Amino acid sequence: MRPKKRLFWHLYPSFLAIIVITLVISSIYSSTSMKDFFLNQTADDLKIRALLLQRQVTLRLLINDESAVNELCAVAGQEASTRITVTLPDGRVVGDSFSAPGKMENHSDRPEIMEAADGRIGTSIRYSATMKNRMMYVAIPLVHDGQLLAILRTAITVSRIDEQLSRIRLRFILGGIVIALIVAGISLLVSRRISKPVEELKIGADRFSQGDFDHKLPTPDTVEMTALADSMNQMAARLNDRIKTIVQHRNELEAVLSSMVEGVLAVDHNERVLFSNQAVLRLFDLKLGTLTGKTIQEVSRSPQFHRFVQQALLNRETAEGTFTLYTPDERIVHFRNAPLKGGSGEHIGTLFALNDVTGIKRLENMRRDFAANVSHEIKTPLTAIKGFVETLIDVGAGDPEETLRFLSIIQKHVDRLTAIVEDLKQLSQIELADEKIGISLERGQIGDVIREAVSECRDRATEKRIDIVGTCEEDLQIPMNEQLLEHALSNLIDNAITFSSPESRVDVTATTEGSEAVIRVQDYGIGIEPRYHQRIFERFYRVDEGRSREKGGTGLGLAIVKHVVLAHNGRITVDSAPGRGSRFDIRLPLR
Ligand code: ADP
Repeated sequence: MRPKKRLFWHLYPSFLAIIVITLVISSIYSSTSMKDFFLNQTADDLKIRALLLQRQVTLRLLINDESAVNELCAVAGQEASTRITVTLPDGRVVGDSFSAPGKMENHSDRPEIMEAADGRIGTSIRYSATMKNRMMYVAIPLVHDGQLLAILRTAITVSRIDEQLSRIRLRFILGGIVIALIVAGISLLVSRRISKPVEELKIGADRFSQGDFDHKLPTPDTVEMTALADSMNQMAARLNDRIKTIVQHRNELEAVLSSMVEGVLAVDHNERVLFSNQAVLRLFDLKLGTLTGKTIQEVSRSPQFHRFVQQALLNRETAEGTFTLYTPDERIVHFRNAPLKGGSGEHIGTLFALNDVTGIKRLENMRRDFAANVSHEIKTPLTAIKGFVETLIDVGAGDPEETLRFLSIIQKHVDRLTAIVEDLKQLSQIELADEKIGISLERGQIGDVIREAVSECRDRATEKRIDIVGTCEEDLQIPMNEQLLEHALSNLIDNAITFSSPESRVDVTATTEGSEAVIRVQDYGIGIEPRYHQRIFERFYRVDEGRSREKGGTGLGLAIVKHVVLAHNGRITVDSAPGRGSRFDIRLPLR
């Protein structure tokens, strides 16, 4: 491509060229016309001079006085500064104002003489060997009684005309140069005036292209340029509005997408992310600023996820399913995908909506396990009761001692059933109350709660000769449901007694730590392996099932404690190891 020139350099040289060509052509034309004019004028002049002499020469020739003719030529030639020559029709020179006719050669071959011999007026411009100069000749025929007597020729040198013409030409050139300079100056100004507004528009357009739409183009002083500037200003204003609207829409969309709990992930045919929201980063546990442009392998290492993306891109249909992520915790992700279409309806990829359903799945599993556990827990005593009742029916009330033993076993299992049903009822009551309106809390003394719980467990402790030591900071009050808190605490103390060897000790203390009250139940019994610390709060979970059941535990005690604590907006922690005893801390807000 040829290098581009500025508009000015297109205009100015063209103007100059036009001026110079016009001047040169008009100078050549005028000087040629001038020359023709001068030559015609001179020819006419020579003709008149010849005509003026014609009569006198004819008279002298009629009397055959050739010397008188020559003399006339000399005198008239001198007076009129003209060379005058007279030749006879055969070309012999009989008179000449410049040379002696006798010495002159025959003139019959001269073009003007030949023309005049034919009866016309002859004209010629050529070099004269006699005059050693360029001369103009005009010859006229001298006719008497219809007969050619002689030819009269007048001539002058044309160098004078040439001199005059070159003087005029010089003036033309000088005048042309002056005009050219003036016009060059004017066309410089005109070129500038035309190109400057265009350059200003260009600078403005550059600023528009850089996004500076607040810039206003200056109004030039021509109608066309003003219209162009106005159109460009309007275009910029409209573009500005459009861009603002687009940016606003994009921001709104981004705000909606980023506040969504669901992850939104669009993937193109090359398995690269087109866009994604914050939830996707959270879901895949990524610390990146944006996923746009990243491959799905960079997003997640899950082969399951890769397979689903590839299937979605291949099938171009809506689908849903779940996959598991290890980030590093196990997470179950539910997805729905739909084909992603471009502006003109073409398929450009696939769109995923992702949901972390780990909690829901866990809850579902818990519910399922819970139902199975409840049936299992109830079935065991029921089977035992059924067995003993059937035996009693079969055997009959033969041996009263045996019958009494059977009945007491039946009673033990009935008590167990009752305990399970009681605990379940309590658990569901706490859950229900807490879910619906929250349990009602009133300020109460923790000291009173500890005292009541300890006295409730006193008999069992005494049975095992276990010393329960209860201490509480003075006047330690918190918002509480006294009955529930007392029940939770006695569950903890009961467990502490159950899992301690006889003649040991259980400490129950209550203190303030920051904005919380801490109720601590510490025993020095068998302890719990750390891997069970989370699970012991699940319903029906027991570390040693046989042993717990044998000791009358329902497996619901700690689940109840946890729910009571949660209903008080508190938390419960356990610190324990086998052989080192267990410490349960209930932390409840002071306000
Ligand atoms: P249970 O009615 O069987 O005692 P819990 O829910 O109260 O049920 O306790 C669950 C399990 O946690 C118990 O079976 C026991 O294995 C363990 N556990 C609870 N408290 C203690 C403790 N103080 N020392 C050792 N193990 C305990």
